Amino acid sequence: MPRVKSPSQAEISGNPREFALLAQVAPSGEAKAEVLKEYVQLYGQPSASVPEGDISFADFAAMFSRPAGGTKPANNCVSYAARDKSGVLAPYSFDRRAVGPGDVRIQITHAGICHSDLHQVKDEWGGSVFPMVPGHEIVGIVTEVGEGVTKFKPGDRAGVGCMVDSCRTCDTCKRDEEQFCPKCVYTYNSKHPDGTLAQGGYSSHIVVQEAFTLRVPSNLPLDATAPLLCAGITVYSPMKHFGLDKPGMRVGVVGLGGLGHMAVKIGKGLGLHVTVISTSEAKREEAIKVLGADEFVVSKDADAMKAAAGSMHGIIDTVSAKHDVGALVNLLKVDGKLVMVGVPEVPLDLPVMAIVFKRALISGSLIGGIKQTQEMLDFCGEKGITASIEKIPIDYVNTAYERMLRSDVRYRFVIDVQGSLVL
Ligand code: NAP
Ligand code: ZN
Repeated sequence: MPRVKSPSQAEISGNPREFALLAQVAPSGEAKAEVLKEYVQLYGQPSASVPEGDISFADFAAMFSRPAGGTKPANNCVSYAARDKSGVLAPYSFDRRAVGPGDVRIQITHAGICHSDLHQVKDEWGGSVFPMVPGHEIVGIVTEVGEGVTKFKPGDRAGVGCMVDSCRTCDTCKRDEEQFCPKCVYTYNSKHPDGTLAQGGYSSHIVVQEAFTLRVPSNLPLDATAPLLCAGITVYSPMKHFGLDKPGMRVGVVGLGGLGHMAVKIGKGLGLHVTVISTSEAKREEAIKVLGADEFVVSKDADAMKAAAGSMHGIIDTVSAKHDVGALVNLLKVDGKLVMVGVPEVPLDLPVMAIVFKRALISGSLIGGIKQTQEMLDFCGEKGITASIEKIPIDYVNTAYERMLRSDVRYRFVIDVQGSLVL
């Protein structure tokens, strides 16, 4: 059981990726030999021999250094970016700011791929700014903190979701709903107050204000936790806000993708009766047996939709493309609530007759505030809820986008940043 001697801040700053690996292999300073071997195989020099006794941080770092090859970029952060709305991502390097007061530097280990990344790199919502490094489901290890930071220290696990700053003084900020702040700086496709582009998590590290940095529960694996930072909070928040969180309530989840499968898991965690509404039979068995859904309805099956009519207190609609809202309103009980979280690129028809006859409420919901995101992470930690993921190297991202568009992912792609984006 090798003990790795604690590195100095200078050693950490010089080898942030190796330090992030150390924090995963030996959170208490002592590395379990089999875990260390596994990490060396995955992320290091497979030929490196794993020592028995105490080792220095330099020795540890040497096991994980990559063979020299290619030219090192002049910039401090490597990433994948879209250069234009063709939506194709390619390697890109840029400079992140140095750690200032209140900042936390996170060495990114994993980043989830959200359908919003795809909408934005293809400029489907309009106004996209390039070059764009997507990614707002970010987890990693803190390697440096700025003056005044109290909640994080080097070695801690940390997460970043869809926001990296806001004005902190407006009504919505004071209500802990920073996502609605007119000056909210989103994690990417957004600008900092000084005009620099905010760039997201398909990158080797990020520097974020402490107030927008989340604590990742210690019992959850980093990779499968990344999607909670957007998919998780986006479905948790409306369940809480619209009172669709009482045990036994019947809630429908439309679209079994990244958001949808988290809605099933979180809904079951809250004790809801969850019905999945999906476009095909393909995901039925897994939805019920693996994800824990109570019922599964195929939206194209008119008889099944009729049988489910009037049965739901609420519906979380995660669909990313144009679809029939009237068919969903029919599933609601009187006074039922349909919450749209999916954001198709085109407006949807409003089925007024169906809404009137149900006194239905149709609403939308945007991610969730930082306080509620932390609450959701802690809830998932308590219940052991994480995403079901397919882990990929960064150079697979363009294929992953194509597959996501075909709903061919069970259920979230997560980029192994520390394994495939190495400075
Ligand atoms: P995703 O993984 O691609 O899942 C979307 C699911 O919608 C698919 O798996 C599919 O489910 C269903 N679907 C796709 N095309 C459809 C169509 N033409 N008709 C009916 N159903 C269809 O995407 P995601 O990452 O979960 O994101 C979903 C949407 O939420 C995106 O528009 C994204 O931008 C948006 N979003 C919003 C927020 C927010 O704050 N409001 C946050 C994050 C994401 P089945 O295979 O089961 O049919
Ligand atoms: Zn997202």
